[in-house]
Amino acid sequence: MFYTFNISICNINRGGGVWRDRIEIMDGDITKLDMDAIVNAANNSLMGGGGVDGAIHRAAGPELLEECRRLGGCATGDAKITKGYRLPAQYIIHAVGPVWRGGGQGESRLLASCYKRCFELAKAYGIKTIALPAISTGVYGFPKETAAMIAIKETKDAILEDQAIEKVIFVCFNPDTRKAYESALAEEI
Ligand code: ADP
Repeated sequence: MFYTFNISICNINRGGGVWRDRIEIMDGDITKLDMDAIVNAANNSLMGGGGVDGAIHRAAGPELLEECRRLGGCATGDAKITKGYRLPAQYIIHAVGPVWRGGGQGESRLLASCYKRCFELAKAYGIKTIALPAISTGVYGFPKETAAMIAIKETKDAILEDQAIEKVIFVCFNPDTRKAYESALAEEI
């Protein structure tokens, strides 16, 4: 005789999916979002650059560069916080992701460290809503799928630990990024 135990292992492992409810994936321009903080994919100088960094500096205005100048740069894998100036967001967290050099130079650890530092700063500044771009996956060349898995894993760990975080938005600037986040979110248990 057959007994079928109709228990979904998937659902058990996902702990009811509560942490997922605090994560959103959306298309758009991060500079437009009215959040407590947005994250910038910055470089070591913190003096602005191309991609999302350039867009954030243009939208926030020249006062941002003034504040960044006083911060003395930022190490790869670290992040620093400034005010948002002319952005709808109150704060900007400037995270410096690694340049992809084939994967053998600690790139994954450094990218994970960026996300950890973003959430540490969010906690320290009482930030409840935060939007992030796909750090390192533009000019820095980090593979999107691996980067998305790291982003989701670090976010899950951070929001399980810090219940004050209400909403995390991953902002996608292209369809490949969106696909990568959707797969990573579906696969994370
Ligand atoms: P990095 O140098 O860390 O690779 P980039 O700015 O080149 O940073 O790219 C990081 C990600 O940000 C890429 O997915 C890019 O398409 C995206 N991006 C660029 N501009 C914006 C924007 N205004 N809003 C959201 N994401 C953006």
